[in-house]
Amino acid sequence: MSQAQSEALFAEALNYIPGGVNSPVRAFRAVGGQPFFVNRARGSRVWDVDGHDYIDYVLTWGPAILGHAHPKIIAAVKSAADHGTSFGIPNPLEVTMARLICSLVPSVQKVRMTSSGTEACMSAIRLARGFTRRDKIIKFDGCYHGHVDSLLVKAGSGALTFGHPDSAGIPAAFTQHTIVVPYNDEAAVRAVFAANPGQIAGIIVEPVPGNAGLYLPRPGYLEFLREITRAEDALLIFDEVMTGFRLARGGAQERFGIKPDLSCFGKVIGGGLPVGAFGGRAEIMDYLAPLGPVYQAGTLSGNPLAMAAGIAALEELGVVGSDVASPPPAAYQRLEELGAQLQAGLADAARQAGIPVQFNRCGSMFCGYFTSTPVHNLADALHSDRERFKKYFHGMLAAGVYLAPSQFEAGFLSTAHSPADIDHTVAAAARVMKQL
Ligand SMILES: *Cc1c(COP(=O)(O)O)cnc(C)c1O
Repeated sequence: MSQAQSEALFAEALNYIPGGVNSPVRAFRAVGGQPFFVNRARGSRVWDVDGHDYIDYVLTWGPAILGHAHPKIIAAVKSAADHGTSFGIPNPLEVTMARLICSLVPSVQKVRMTSSGTEACMSAIRLARGFTRRDKIIKFDGCYHGHVDSLLVKAGSGALTFGHPDSAGIPAAFTQHTIVVPYNDEAAVRAVFAANPGQIAGIIVEPVPGNAGLYLPRPGYLEFLREITRAEDALLIFDEVMTGFRLARGGAQERFGIKPDLSCFGKVIGGGLPVGAFGGRAEIMDYLAPLGPVYQAGTLSGNPLAMAAGIAALEELGVVGSDVASPPPAAYQRLEELGAQLQAGLADAARQAGIPVQFNRCGSMFCGYFTSTPVHNLADALHSDRERFKKYFHGMLAAGVYLAPSQFEAGFLSTAHSPADIDHTVAAAARVMKQL
């Protein structure tokens, strides 16, 4: 399988871009080899510059829930672009997007747009600190909230892969107010509150952590986080940048029936354009400038192309005009069925090959860890056999299936994936696993 064009591009990229990539995990360091370059994508597939196509389970790291290049999204972006790419003045699409988010996510009464999930999380933390007049934040190891200085502590995939959990260039003083505890461990959270009375501004959590592979909250765990934050006058911040509008119309919070104080969004709501958003109770959100003392801004925030793409994506998902009382849109049912098919097929392939795999899945997000012990948090995830994953990754790639190039990333399904795509994937996995 010739990769001549990709190899030439990567060699050139290395001259001008650090590591040849604009985001570290793309460099394939965790699996070895070189990244391929893509110049076209449609539906469930991406095409590389050497003419190979792959069934894509990365989906631009989550946003492409309708598959790539959905015609409605492309048309919406083109038509918005005809009217100008950015104004820096309020535009009607921002209002539509804000109204949509508030109507679909009951915990969100007001929302502000940003240009990335990183900015959304950074701003939500600042707002929580400003609102509570407290400095300390609890986060969980393995959870990623963007590359924000104070949150880049034990932050999952990228950092794990490169073996230095914390980034250079972040003064210790910047992270001294970030307290990191294991996920799914109630006693650890209780101990932090007991040791820091009246000092915790809030807890930020990926309700279903998807940045160290994928693991689910134990029954009652999210309820526990809700109760303890309420009792301690701290805020509960759900980082739903990955799970928002993916696990359900109203995100993980709808799926698990929890109302956080603040929520962060991104990925799906941008329809593949750069976007982020954070929102929550009005009394908290009104602490933001220009109403309140917490400053937050963005030249391209509420960008009309991103808003048009996001609104089109939400319309196509069938969530517009629905609310928590209406039945779940068909798109989520389809994603659930595809997910179940993939899970059953891969579990079967692993059993037949005699390879221990923990297959974690929540709706259209999944991760198969090569270990015989269940995975509920980062420490469990680290039991996975990474050498085996490398071989699996390359075997699947050669069979035309693109998985995230790291054991510690979630996989994603789109409504454009077909049962035949899943069959192809499962058949490839059955062959590849026999050679592991
Ligand atoms: C992707 C992600 C982010 C960061 O979003 P960017 O748009 O890459 O800045 C934050 N939190 C979670 C949970 C994410 O998955």
